[in-house]
Amino acid sequence: MDSIWTKSADMPEFPILETELHTHVLIIGGGLTGILCAYFLQQAGVDYCLLEKNRICSGITCGTTAKITAQHGLIYGKLLQEKGAETAEQYLRANLLAVEEYRRLGSKIACEMEEKNACVYSVSDRSELEWELTALDRLGFPAKFVDCPTLPFRTEGAVCFPHQLQFHPLRFAGGLAASLNIYENSGVRRMTEHLAITEKGSVTADKIIVATHFPFINTRGVYFMKLYQERACVTAWRQAPDVDGMYIDAAPDGLSLRNYKNFLLIGGGSHRTGKTVRRTSPRRSSGVPEEYSRESAFAREFFRSRTADWGLRKLKTEAARCFPTAEFAGAWAAQDCMSLDGIPYIGPYSPSTPELFVAAGYNKWGMTGSMVSAMLLSDLVQEKENMFSELFSPKRRILTPQLAVNLLEAIKGIAKPTLRGRCSHMGCVLKWNPEEKTWECPCHGSRFGPNGAVLDNPAGKPLRKIP
Ligand SMILES: Cc1cc2nc3c(=O)[nH]c(=O)nc-3n(C[C@H](O)[C@H](O)[C@H](O)COP(=O)(O)OP(=O)(O)OC[C@H]3O[C@@H](n4cnc5c(N)ncnc54)[C@H](O)[C@@H]3O)c2cc1C
Repeated sequence: MDSIWTKSADMPEFPILETELHTHVLIIGGGLTGILCAYFLQQAGVDYCLLEKNRICSGITCGTTAKITAQHGLIYGKLLQEKGAETAEQYLRANLLAVEEYRRLGSKIACEMEEKNACVYSVSDRSELEWELTALDRLGFPAKFVDCPTLPFRTEGAVCFPHQLQFHPLRFAGGLAASLNIYENSGVRRMTEHLAITEKGSVTADKIIVATHFPFINTRGVYFMKLYQERACVTAWRQAPDVDGMYIDAAPDGLSLRNYKNFLLIGGGSHRTGKTVRRTSPRRSSGVPEEYSRESAFAREFFRSRTADWGLRKLKTEAARCFPTAEFAGAWAAQDCMSLDGIPYIGPYSPSTPELFVAAGYNKWGMTGSMVSAMLLSDLVQEKENMFSELFSPKRRILTPQLAVNLLEAIKGIAKPTLRGRCSHMGCVLKWNPEEKTWECPCHGSRFGPNGAVLDNPAGKPLRKIP
């Protein structure tokens, strides 16, 4: 299930680390976050190197839909209500700056960057859109209310951010990475605050940035409690209309849309990794024609219990109903780390490790998230002030309802008796995903191939016993 990006980009190649090195800043992880951090440090004349476990951008970055926008669903009304005007205003500002930085860098790299409107639509609730518009108005951002004439299903309208961007993420990252100091196939196996050991070499560093998507050091920062992972699918369709913009449903189980060349990319089927897709409530069923919603709840539940859905089947059905003339061209899936309060963790890894840094928890908005991380962390490792350091600080308050959900999932996963294998991360019972043919951990989102090899963090070791 390679993504359209992987199939259409030639990435630069880098050597394996086979020596002992010293550098000022070590970056671990060569996704968009790590590459942008490396680029900013190189620009600032800082001595650095980057270690990547596989090939660069072979993690979540190659599975994205690559919309670059400061519009992260309907987040501003929520931030304003839960965290106040200053936090909401700063979050908006940081992400708008990230969009502008992409615009600047993208103009120098052949990465098919295009300016588009970003829109959050609703199929059922105009009032949630109005609430968001009121919040944005209070924050002084000129969002617009629009109808969605290019969408072939009925909506209640959309909140629109003008002048946002879409691009080819791997062409952008590959273009930036070509001149950077990177080692590939050099995964960090063990580390301390100033030392990282790979299979064939090691790096000592004054400062280390962990940009491995899910932070893999368990003994600091309790990221195994502060993060969970959500998986989603993306499908590509030919003979589909140009929707002329980047769209996403306000409902978490809805669709995400953008065009790339002559393809329409339709994302959806979001679910906690290791769990099947939530039942779609008829009122919230985004973009789904009405006859689907009129199926009896019993029939739907019966069908679901017989054939648990891991995202792709549901997404393909919904997409085909919304775009009946479209021809299915391919699909892939990816997952992202979800923070407790909707704001990423960017800053010192833990209060006791001031020279170890982390960037994680982008809540599926990691294009701007990784740019914000690179701008912020490149300042912090140079001991410069940055106005967003408090907002994204990983040491902020974590008492949220999501924390209770994460703890409950972990307790259930660890306590559940099984004669079969367990996750090599913290011992949770794994679940088989028949659509992707993978073993998945509902606690923290680690994934393993049928042979037990690690596919996704935070697990670092393969399965000792195949379930
Ligand atoms: C379906 C989907 C659609 C999305 N669409 C959008 C979108 O439209 N817009 C948006 O803003 N965001 C989107 N996102 C989110 C975004 O794609 C991610 O947040 C972002 O790509 C994460 O980048 P990263 O560099 O943090 O992680 P990754 O790309 O996963 O990079 C981490 C790297 O670290 C490496 N690594 C791991 N462990 C080690 C180790 N021990 N040693 C060395 N290297 C290691 C991995 O191999 C990997 O290459 C989407 C997410 C999903 C799931």
